[in-house]
This record gives sequence, C-alpha cells and structure tokens, in this order.
Amino acid sequence: MGKSWLPFASYNLWSLFASAVGQEHWHCDMKRGHAKVRKREPDVAAILAQDTVPQTIGLLAQQGVYEFHLNSQRLKDIDGVAQVSEILKLDQQADEVQERLNQILSQYYENPILLKKRIFSLSRGNEGFPEPIKLYYGSITFNLFAAIDCILLEPDGTLHILDLKTGHSDFDERQAFVYLLAASYLFPRKRTIASFYNLELCKWSEPITATMSQLNAVRIELARLAQRHEAEKKQYRKNPAEFDRIFPPNPGFRCQYCQFNSICQFAAQEVSA
Ligand code: SF4
Repeated sequence: MGKSWLPFASYNLWSLFASAVGQEHWHCDMKRGHAKVRKREPDVAAILAQDTVPQTIGLLAQQGVYEFHLNSQRLKDIDGVAQVSEILKLDQQADEVQERLNQILSQYYENPILLKKRIFSLSRGNEGFPEPIKLYYGSITFNLFAAIDCILLEPDGTLHILDLKTGHSDFDERQAFVYLLAASYLFPRKRTIASFYNLELCKWSEPITATMSQLNAVRIELARLAQRHEAEKKQYRKNPAEFDRIFPPNPGFRCQYCQFNSICQFAAQEVSA
C-alpha cells in the first residue's frame, strides 16, 4: 500500500451504504462487504472480474456513443450503426446484450443528442479509475473518485455534466451531487449543472444544480462514509469471522439480482412460481 493511500469515497460507495430513495428496504450492507472489502479474495475477485449484463450494456452503450462522435460521419452513413456494432464487436456478446445494444445504437443514430452540442469531454468508459480528488473535512482526509462520462459546454459558458444511463432504474440525485462536488474542485470558477440521459428510454432528466451549502453537506457525508468504511474494513481484517456482524445481510427478493448470490451463505432462495 503506497504512502499516499487514503480512505476513499465515491457515488458507488455511497449507494452501497444506503440505497436510493424508495429502495431502502432492499438495502443490504453485506453487498458492500463483498464488493469493497472482500474484493481481493479469490471467490469474490472471480465474480468481480466478470461484468454483469447491466454493466456490460452500460459500458458498451457509452463506448458506442463515443465511437459515433469520434467520427461523426458515422451518424450520417447509412450503415453507421453497423460500423459502430463492428467496432464494439457486438457479435461476440450474449443475445440480450446484442439486442439491447442494437436498439440503443439505432435510437442514438436517430436522435444523436450530443451532435449539436459543444463537447468539452467525452469518455469511452473504459479508461479505468479517474484521478482522485483529495478532500478534507475536520481531521478526515479522503480521496473522492468521480468518473464523469461527458461534459458539455453550454452557450453561456456553463459546464454541463452529463451521465449516460441504461436500464430502467430511476436517476439518483446523489450521483449528480457527487459530480457537482467534484466539478467544484476541478473547475472552481465555472458554473456547473448535471443531468442524466437514459439511452434506452431516450429520457433526459431535469438539470440538477447545487448550492455551496448543499455541496458542503455532500462533502461531509462522503467524509463520514469514507471514514466509517475504512474503520469497518479494518475491523473485518482483524476478525474475518465477524463479517456478517460488520456487514449485516438483508436477504430477500433482491438476492436473485445480487452479483454475490452464488457465494453468499445468506442469499434468499429463489421462490418458484
Ligand atoms: S445475496 Fe442477498 S444477502 Fe447476500 S449480499 Fe446479496 S443481497 Fe445481501
């Protein structure tokens, strides 16, 4: 572990600490234990090495949008969708991934929402970890990780952080707040807004903004989570037998969608109809 290693926070960690509004009763702390604390143990590492279908779709959709804009002639060519499908090697993917990606790419080709925008940055989605932003709160120092998909430059100079989504879950405002907090450090003099666009539903969220005091509250919340996560990680390392006490399971209907159900001794059995 390098000297500069610090506790970390991210939207992903926040979502593993507390589910989005309306999803609270499904929340399972043990998922955080598996995903973030046991991640190097072989059985967990093997699961994390495989992207889930939703993760694969999200990643390929982002790459597809990137490829359309890398060479925007593809948005005019009659076989533009086929060109991008080939670059993404979609024929090597599972049927569900191919079907959904074909729809996503065709919809984007019909309605390329970024075409008339000034793109400040657009990521391919597979660049790895973003550079951490070092934040402080009281005696806590932590690294904030926020991978931003796309930043647009609005005509009035506002930076517009856009997060591209797939799937059917609702937008989580907390993610926008994490982006806005990151932007307040990366581009301190710029007015910034954030929004979500769902590539499958072709639905754009309202723009989200945050006041300085809201961003401060987010920073404090993330600092507390980073510190608590670190403390729980240490507790587990000291006493691995206490895993289920430190990260209590909440088995139920959602276990069938949980990445860790094959190794989780608490996983609720699927109830057949
Ligand atoms: S399988 Fe169920 S109990 Fe186990 S970590 Fe996943 S959601 Fe929690």
